[in-house]
Order: sequence, then structure tokens, then C-alpha cells
Amino acid sequence: MKFSLYLGSYRNVKVFIHWTFSLLLLWIIISNMRQGIPMMDILWVILFVLALFACVVMHEFGHALAAQRYGIQTKDIVLYPIGGVARLEKLPEDPKQELWVAIAGPLVNIALFIILSIVLSFTGYNIQSLEEIKIQPNTMLLYIASANLILALFNLLPAFPMDGGRVLRAFLSIKLPRAKATQIAGGIGQFLAIFFVFFGLFNNPILVLIGIFIFLGAGAEVAHTQQESFLKGFKVKDALMSHFQILGYNAPLSKAVEKLLNSQATHFVVVKDDVAIGTISRNEIIKGLETGGENAYIEKFSDLNPIKLDIDSPLDDAWKLMLTQNKKVAFIIENGHFLGILDQENISELILVKTALNQ
Ligand SMILES: [Zn+2]
Repeated sequence: MKFSLYLGSYRNVKVFIHWTFSLLLLWIIISNMRQGIPMMDILWVILFVLALFACVVMHEFGHALAAQRYGIQTKDIVLYPIGGVARLEKLPEDPKQELWVAIAGPLVNIALFIILSIVLSFTGYNIQSLEEIKIQPNTMLLYIASANLILALFNLLPAFPMDGGRVLRAFLSIKLPRAKATQIAGGIGQFLAIFFVFFGLFNNPILVLIGIFIFLGAGAEVAHTQQESFLKGFKVKDALMSHFQILGYNAPLSKAVEKLLNSQATHFVVVKDDVAIGTISRNEIIKGLETGGENAYIEKFSDLNPIKLDIDSPLDDAWKLMLTQNKKVAFIIENGHFLGILDQENISELILVKTALNQ
């Protein structure tokens, strides 16, 4: 994770904090100081924010651990000033699984709220004495407890792709096709996002950011699910590219440059003794030229660990795999023999054709 500080890991899930988080703390300090608030009080506010983000981390672990139960790993959890993001390697498609993964986060906050409320009832905190609304050692627990309740309720708003929106989509997709369910949930999400931005403009700048984030996120995910649904029913062989350019593994990069300039291809298959062993892309060639010069071997800058797909496997799975592993091309295999390649761009073209025919 670039520009982030590694905090630690639990059950193979790494937690990072993004550098922009320091801006949030800086903003709190400066805005409080400008109001003439004493340094000691500001320190308590900072402590509260840190405690709040510890609760956000636990919320994200709710999602991550629920996903682990269904065999879905989480790449990492990253903390941003507007909240945390658990990056799951894929999203559960089964409505019941999606429901549990989505709701597990807010449930953690509800559990924290209940536990802290019990602690508060034992320590006998008198709410009536809270005349001066200020975060102090004696009000800290009360603040954290209330914040957890607010966190849970806010996240449960049906603003897709927030947790509540995912719960909504899960319910909708029991009866409707997933693409349609996503479209409806995404529409509601974008409507609420506009409301957040509008409300935030007059009240809270962070809400504006959250609104923008939701609006863009909803749009992207609706498009993505639609593409995925177009690919349903296709097999890898439908997008097979049997014509491709090859390069010898021990040829110099200058050879790759020559082919790059002489053809339309942006990806090449790297061969060794007539066997395909990997791929090299335009970007990898350029990077190789920058670091190794044009006499460097092609093999050194190739991806020698390509995804290998069976010709009869479903195309939507293949596409998802390529997206999550960030690979633009994959090898297509039949009975252990290399047949050709699958190119992300080629799949996009297939989607475009399918969309055009559907209209
Ligand atoms: Zn969540």
C-alpha cells in the first residue's frame, strides 16, 4: 500500500493508515486552536478521534472475518480520514453471504455500544451532569459509546456501496437478477450521496467527501456488475486470441521495441524452446528500457507467472480473476497445451458488441 503506514496485522489481514489521515489530525488541531480551545482539551479530542478510528478498524475486521468464513480473503484494511476500507479480494455473490459480510461491520459497532453502555451503567456515569459538552476523561467513554451507535446507524443507511446499501442489494437480489438489484441499489445510493454532499456543504466537509465517494463508487460498481452479467454464459474460448506476437526469452529488448513499433500489439508472448513461458507488455518493455537499456534480455522484464485458464471455464470468472490479480492477459490452456491468450481489452470489446446488440 503506497503512502501508508503499516500498523500491524491480525489473521493475515494487514492494517494500514493512509498519509492523508495526518491532515485530519492537523485540521482538528488548527480549527480548535483558532477557536482558542486550550491545548489539553484538544489533546482529548485527538484521543477521542484515535479511539473512534480504533472502532472503525474493528468494524472493518467485522467485514474481513465474516468474509473469511466464506473463504474470501481480505488484502488489507486502509484507514482514510473519511473512514476505513476493507479490500476484499472479491465480493460474495450469494445474497446470504453478502448480507452477512455487509452487516458484520455495523454489528461490531452495536456490540461495542452495548458493552460500553454496560460499563457506563456500572461506573454510574450521570448523564444529567453533562452540561458542558466537552470531551474529558470522564466523558470519553460516553462519547465513544455514542459514536459507535452513530457509526452503526450511519453505515446502515441504504447508500450503496455503503454497508446498508449492500444489505439492500442482497435483499433485492434474492428476487431480482444481480445486475438489476445493483442498478436499483446504486440509484438509491447516488440519490442519497447528492443529499450528503448538499447537507455536508453547510455542516460538515467530511460528509461532502463521503458523498462524492459514494456517488462515484455506486456508479463504478453498477457498471462493473452490468459488464459481469453480460459475460455470463460465455466461455473463455469465445474470447480466445489465437493470433499473437511472440518474442524469444533471450532476445534483447531492442527486438521487442521493433515489434512494438511494427504492430498493433501491446502484449507479447514470451517463448523458450517453442514453449510459451510468460508475457511482456508495452509498459514492461518501456520500464525495461529505462532500467536495463535496449540490450537487456526480454526474460528479465517479463511476467513469467501468467494466469492459466482452461478453455472451457466461464468467461466472467476469468475476467474477475484477471481484474483482481491485475493482469491484462492470461494464457488459455486445453488439455495442458497452450492455445492462445485472453486479453482484457478483447473481453471489453466483446462486452461492447454484446451491449450494442442488446439495444
Ligand atoms: Zn462497513
